Amino acid sequence: MSSQMVSVPASRTINYLRVSITDRCNLRCCYCMPEDGVPVMPHKEILSYEEMLRLIGVFVTAGIRKVRITGGEPLVRKEVVDLLARLHRMPGLEEVTLTTNGVLLNEFAADLKKSGVSRLNISLDSLKRERFAQITRRDRFEEVVAGIQLAERLGFDPIKINVVMMRGVNDDEIGDFFRVAKERPYQVRFIEYMPVGADNSWDPAQFISSKEIYEEISQFGRLEPLTPGLLDGPARCYRVVDGAGQIGFISALSDHFCERCNRLRLTADGQLRTCLFSDAEVSLKTPLRQGRSDEELLALIREAIRNKPEGHGLQRVRPEACMRQMSRIGG
Ligand code: SAM
Ligand code: SF4
Repeated sequence: MSSQMVSVPASRTINYLRVSITDRCNLRCCYCMPEDGVPVMPHKEILSYEEMLRLIGVFVTAGIRKVRITGGEPLVRKEVVDLLARLHRMPGLEEVTLTTNGVLLNEFAADLKKSGVSRLNISLDSLKRERFAQITRRDRFEEVVAGIQLAERLGFDPIKINVVMMRGVNDDEIGDFFRVAKERPYQVRFIEYMPVGADNSWDPAQFISSKEIYEEISQFGRLEPLTPGLLDGPARCYRVVDGAGQIGFISALSDHFCERCNRLRLTADGQLRTCLFSDAEVSLKTPLRQGRSDEELLALIREAIRNKPEGHGLQRVRPEACMRQMSRIGG
């Protein structure tokens, strides 16, 4: 197989794959899942680790250099550390990262470090225990904070803290999160609240743009723009001047970053999605289980990359654009 990079259309290099390894989760974040959760996929529909590893190997041939393991909550799936260790050893893959809600991080951090993973994204939408419990509908704040602290002691670098900002919910904590980035060596990333999921109760009144957050932060301290690395996603990142950490903005709605989008997504049931906001999916599970060759799978992946939308158009429509819950796509 040739290992040529696939580019679409002019300058977008697709080198980043997010892999959701489970649709199950131990939290019920209000912006991601209904209170009662979502019907879980039967185990036989979910790709085995062997199947995932084979597909990821083909993605590497198609030009993927960075894989992020996500979910649902990836740490609830058994043997996840073994999967990460095998990915870490996969030739051609330069970066293996994990996004977690942090609830089980205290338990897993040491083994994760041993597996070779050194880069972590941890979601934390409030620095207040009660508010955290309201947003996530579970009282697990202290476990998450202990997990983040342990990750820092163990030397994970970078540690990125994902914060979904919602007006009237947690926007009074922008200054507190800025102080975290000033005092600790973390990258605090503000994610715009996105309209994703069939029964998502997305409310435009709760939406806050990155620009507004940036302006509020400017009252607390100075930010200096950082140049993105080749494998970085569409986040815009800044160093906190005279601080230990960084601030990032992921502006999926306000900043039409499609032309910089370098990512693909593989769902836990083996569907390839080329845009978070489009329900167009290409099944890789079916041909995989039908015994197709790596070359045939590669051709399907290349075709999907060629068809990756140039833009999602979310600014123009009131979007129930994406019917799968975030927990099923992986963010
Ligand atoms: N369970 C893990 C976690 O929460 O970090 C990984 C999966 S989660 C779907 C990945 C990311 O998507 C999280 O940072 C979460 O905050 C974000 N997310 C989920 N729903 C969202 C929404 N409606 N708008 C913006 N971000 C969202
Ligand atoms: Fe679970 Fe992550 Fe969705 Fe929260 S955002 S419900 S932690 S999958």
